[in-house]
Amino acid sequence: MDEQIQSRQRPREQLPTSEEEWRQRLSPEQFEVLRNKGTEHVFTGKYAFTKDRGTYRCAACGEELFRSEAKYDSGTGWPSFFEPIARGAVELQEDLSFGMRRIEVTCARCGGHLGHLFDDGPEPTGERYCMNSISLSLEPDDAERDGVVD
Ligand SMILES: [Zn+2]
Repeated sequence: MDEQIQSRQRPREQLPTSEEEWRQRLSPEQFEVLRNKGTEHVFTGKYAFTKDRGTYRCAACGEELFRSEAKYDSGTGWPSFFEPIARGAVELQEDLSFGMRRIEVTCARCGGHLGHLFDDGPEPTGERYCMNSISLSLEPDDAERDGVVD
């Protein structure tokens, strides 16, 4: 018997199945945005001005959501991207709250609230994914060596 197959992907942990489990797993600030669809205060998020190269993962479930190459300075005070890392990484739905018609962006894997999508972004997509820093976790490119077996 050969025991092969160390999957190259990191193991997928079980996601919480209730809001109570999410509450235990996330910080109160993260819970407010990711599960209650809150919005962090403008210019306060830790990634508002970040230019580091790397992959932005979902802070709740770890799914890869955005690459730093798609991040740009939108001047809005929230981290903004012109495209997700893959079309299936995020889900979009109409959000009619606060008397506005907006497109809500959620993590396709865990359903966590990430932010909103607007159509005033730069080329090549013209899209602006306006995200909450607290919903994201940046994995710098040099950290990719971790977990690589020489
Ligand atoms: Zn997620």
